[in-house]
Amino acid sequence: MAAADRSWRIVFLGPPNSGKGTQAAMLAQSLGVPTISTGEMLRAAVEQGSELGQRVEAVMAKGHLVSDDMMADVVRARLAESDAANGYILDGYPRTLPQAETLDGILSEGSGGGLDSVLFVGAPESVLLARALGRGRADDTEEIARERQRVYREQTEPLEAFYEERGLLMRIDGAQTIESVKADIHRALGVAAPDARAEGVGAASR
Ligand code: AMP
Repeated sequence: MAAADRSWRIVFLGPPNSGKGTQAAMLAQSLGVPTISTGEMLRAAVEQGSELGQRVEAVMAKGHLVSDDMMADVVRARLAESDAANGYILDGYPRTLPQAETLDGILSEGSGGGLDSVLFVGAPESVLLARALGRGRADDTEEIARERQRVYREQTEPLEAFYEERGLLMRIDGAQTIESVKADIHRALGVAAPDARAEGVGAASR
């Protein structure tokens, strides 16, 4: 079956620096659906100095999570946009069990059905921390990088079991090269990977 004939409501799950953002963006391009990255949406709101941005800035700087209620409004509005009608890749949402339940609720209100797949991109914490510190982002001091990992384990990790029980979870080894991870993801979904040479390799590391 061609990629265009299937529905693609996909969630990317994984700890900070697993590379899931990069993979989500590449997969969205091969499937022709938008990537919805809540982290990017929030960073844009902070840059614009919008009301939302002002409310979330301090929480984000600490590596903590924005409240489930605020995120529900952000995601509900974004999923209602027309480009998301035929599928999307969610990167960074849901991140807590209440968010996963909210997402189920939003999807059950629409006509498109539930999630199609959840791709879990994992890697050992030593690899994740080395990537975080190597990247040298201004906010990624070692302390904040460790805090992001702690928050992931505490609040987001339970989603692995949540989606596994629903038969949606596919595990991908994120410790490999970007190209190998990409190939594994396409194989897991049963879609042809675009030719890397034709595309130009070397995406950003996020
Ligand atoms: P990310 O780029 O996905 O790592 O997100 C950057 C930051 O945005 C996170 O550390 C959180 O502070 C916030 N954020 C993004 N998505 C969510 C979410 N689903 N729930 C709560 N906070 C979020």
